[in-house]
Amino acid sequence: MHELFLIGNRILGTLETYGYKGYFVGGCVRDHHMQRAINDVDITTDALPDDIERIFERTVDVGKEHGTIIVLIDDIPFEVTTFRTESGYSDFRRPDQVSFTNQLNSDLERRDFTMNAMAMDENFEILDPYGGMKDIEEQVIRTVGCPEERFNEDALRMLRAARFAAHLEFHVAPETENAMAAHAQNLEFVAVERCVVELDKLYRGAGVKAAKALMVKTRLKAHLAFLENIGDEDFLDTDVRSLENEIALQMWRNPGLEPHLHELKLSNDMKREIKDTTRLIGMLHRPSTIKEVAYGHDMKILKNASEIVELNTFTESKEKKDLLKSAIELKPQLPISDISDINLDGNMLMQLFNARGGRWIRKVFSAVEEKILDGSLKNDTKIIMEWVEAHVEYEAGDI
Ligand code: ATP
Ligand code: MG
Repeated sequence: MHELFLIGNRILGTLETYGYKGYFVGGCVRDHHMQRAINDVDITTDALPDDIERIFERTVDVGKEHGTIIVLIDDIPFEVTTFRTESGYSDFRRPDQVSFTNQLNSDLERRDFTMNAMAMDENFEILDPYGGMKDIEEQVIRTVGCPEERFNEDALRMLRAARFAAHLEFHVAPETENAMAAHAQNLEFVAVERCVVELDKLYRGAGVKAAKALMVKTRLKAHLAFLENIGDEDFLDTDVRSLENEIALQMWRNPGLEPHLHELKLSNDMKREIKDTTRLIGMLHRPSTIKEVAYGHDMKILKNASEIVELNTFTESKEKKDLLKSAIELKPQLPISDISDINLDGNMLMQLFNARGGRWIRKVFSAVEEKILDGSLKNDTKIIMEWVEAHVEYEAGDI
C-alpha cells in the first residue's frame, strides 16, 4: 500500500474515534486501483469543516465554504472535504449552491466520471456505487449519471474528459462523447484559467494525439480561447508534449496568432517562454553559431525548441537540429550563462578610467563577455581588470 494511504489512514482513524466516517476519494482511488503513481490523497468525510478544525492539531482553511480543510500529518497536506451535493448550475460552470450531506453516495454522485466516483475505506476496501471499476476495466470514461445534465451543470467536465483520455489512454463512452459534441459551445462560459489547467495536463498525457482528435471531433477546440484560431489540420499535425510548445509552434507557423495569446491569461513568465521559444525556432533559419544559440537562451527554451524541431515535420536540415542538440550539451559548460555572471562591476571601470558612467561601460562589458565566452579570458575580477587596462583605451565620447 502506498505510504500516503498509510499516513492518510491516521486521519480516517482519528475521524472514526470522534464518531465520524472518512474515506479516500477521487483520483487517488482510481490511480491506486489502476496501479498508477499516486500524486496526492484526498479524503471525504461527514465531519463539518469546523469539526475537522477542532479534531486535528494542524489544519489550514483553504475553502471552508466549499467544505475543504487541509490537515497536515507529518508535514504532508491532505485535503479533507465534507460530503457535499451541488445544485442549481444556472451558468454552466459553478453550482449556485453547495450543501453538505451525511451521505457518502450523494458526494460520489456529484463527481464527474465513474472512475473518479469511487471511495476507499480504512481497510482499503473500495466502494464503487457507479461502476467505476468496470469502466476502468473496459478503459471507458463515462459520466456519473446523464452526460447531458452533467455537462450542462459544469461545461469544464467535457475538457476534463479529453484530459483523462490523454492521460489514461481511455476512450470516451459513446453517450458521453455525443453529449460533449452537443454541448461543446458551453465551454465558452467557463473561466479560461480553469480550461488552461486541464489543457496543460492534457498535453502531458501519453495519449495527447487521440485527445486532440477528440477535441476536434466534438468541437471542444472550436470553443477554446486561442486554439479556436488554429485550423483543425494545423492543430492535428503537430506532435508536442506541452501546451506551451503547441502555442509556440503554431505561432511560429502563423504569426497572426500572436495577438490572441493574451486570451489564455497565462502568467507573464509563461508568455515570455512561449515567445522566446518561437523566436529561437525562427532564428534557426538564419546562420547562427552554437554559442549564440546556447548563450542567448535559457535551457528551458533550448529544450522546448529542440522538442519542437525533433518531433515535428520540419523542413529544417539536420544541421539545424544538431545545432540545438549541441547547444543543449554546451550550455552547462559555458563559463557564464548571462552578462550578469561577469565578475566585474561598472564602478570599477569608472574608477579605473576616472570617468563617468555611460554607454561605454556596456561596450566594455560586451568585449569582456566575448573574450570569456571564447575561452581566452578567465571570469576573475583581477584578471578582467588587467585585461581591460591593457586593451581598452578610454577617451571621452569615444568608446
Ligand atoms: P489528477 O490525478 O490528475 O489530479 P483527479 O481525479 O484527482 O486527477 P482533480 O482535478 O484533482 O482530478 O479532482 C479531484 C476529484 O474531484 C476528481 O477525481 C473528481 O471526483 C472531482 N472533480 C474534480 N473536478 C470536478 C468537476 N468539474 N465536476 C465534478 N467532479 C469533479
Ligand atoms: Mg487530484
